Amino acid sequence: MRMRECRIWDRERECMDREALRALQGERLCQTVKRVYDNVPMYRKRMQEKGILPDDIQSVEDIRYLPFTDKPDLRDEFPYGLFAAPKHDIVRIQGSSGTTGMPIVVGYTQNDVDVWTEMAARSLTMAGCGVDDIVQVCYGYGLFTGGLGMHQGASRIGSMVIPMSSGNTSRQIDILRSLGTTVLCCTPSYGLLIAETILEKGIDPKTLKLKAGTFGAEPWSEKIRERIETLLDIDALDIYGLTEMGGPGVSCECLFKQGMHVNEDHVIPEIIDPETEEPLPYGEKGELVFSTITKEGTPLLRYRTHDLCRLTDAQCECGRTTVRMDRIMGRTDDMLVIRGVNVFPSQIENILMSIPGATPHFLLTVDRVGPTDTMEIQVEVTNEIFGDTVASLQNFSKVIKERVKSTLGLSAVIKLVPPKSIPRFEGKARRVTDLRKL
Ligand code: ADP
Ligand code: ZN
Repeated sequence: MRMRECRIWDRERECMDREALRALQGERLCQTVKRVYDNVPMYRKRMQEKGILPDDIQSVEDIRYLPFTDKPDLRDEFPYGLFAAPKHDIVRIQGSSGTTGMPIVVGYTQNDVDVWTEMAARSLTMAGCGVDDIVQVCYGYGLFTGGLGMHQGASRIGSMVIPMSSGNTSRQIDILRSLGTTVLCCTPSYGLLIAETILEKGIDPKTLKLKAGTFGAEPWSEKIRERIETLLDIDALDIYGLTEMGGPGVSCECLFKQGMHVNEDHVIPEIIDPETEEPLPYGEKGELVFSTITKEGTPLLRYRTHDLCRLTDAQCECGRTTVRMDRIMGRTDDMLVIRGVNVFPSQIENILMSIPGATPHFLLTVDRVGPTDTMEIQVEVTNEIFGDTVASLQNFSKVIKERVKSTLGLSAVIKLVPPKSIPRFEGKARRVTDLRKL
């Protein structure tokens, strides 16, 4: 920590006595269960199947009896099936990257927006952000929750917000210098790109006003943290969130950087064994599961994030009493996060299947060159295509490249390979090589 005061946004809640917090969670959980039972047919059905009624849930310990929710449920119930508030009370829609071809949306009542805003305000305060700060938000604005989420949080604090959205690094840096940005919000990979570009431009970080950054929406490592901190001479903090729980700010690190404080008065975190679905005690690694306990628009019970993580309830030096989560250690499913976009290998298969002459046999290699994720897809083509002229092969790979770009929003290097050259698998296929050293 760079010798700065450790600020707390909502001392009453963030430093709450744990027993009182558990009681509050229990109370809010009961209300949420009642709400979804009464308003969401899917939950009513699932609870009936499990033979439980809302009244059976008496305290936070009873959470283990509740049904899980998973991403496919959001897709199946798309768009409004999981809404637990009347549409006239919904004031906002946000969604998952959207570019993944699996649209999911969540609805917010005004109270939901306020809660999310509070979570982001708490997070930014952890980075030392206050009314005198200038916050540059370089997450994308739109359905993606990053941009608007951090924007709202910074506004709530009363900081000066610069809504840059992502991209145009040179301009980001010009603004950062000329306006005297003190807090940066973006993905860690973009943070690193900004830092390295500043270095390339020969700008001395000491001449900048920047003091901290909250970086999230994708996995990163201590190594990357060190690099960003050294290059920019700032505190670089990890912030976690997901659309299903509201957005960024579900948890965030304080300046002690010992894991992310979970906003437990709004969400209940659990770690489960992804195979048996049994809850695991603090300290053990497993799948992170969240239940919303204040959400009105789209409350979710035991939402399986597929993120691998560990929780601890050890007291943090900052004074907050909330449970902290480790850096995300990976995912239980095969979803990749490439440049912040969720990519499933099955989507690539689908793309290839839709192009005559391509086969579903492919190998995906993800790497990181400097701060940028790269994606290379080796595609096995049919004999017919392979025997074609060089020009038409080039053309063919261009078609695939464009299809990938329009479906995933990501550019990839396409390599066409001869028939039967990609290994076949007898068990689970392993089509993905992730060379990123996180
Ligand atoms: P999308 O990226 O599809 O818009 P979300 O933003 O809701 O959807 O993505 C949430 C996911 O992003 C999380 O489940 C997790 O895998 C990843 N994520 C978010 N923040 C972090 C973080 N700080 N560290 C690692 N992974 C993160
Ligand atoms: Zn702390």
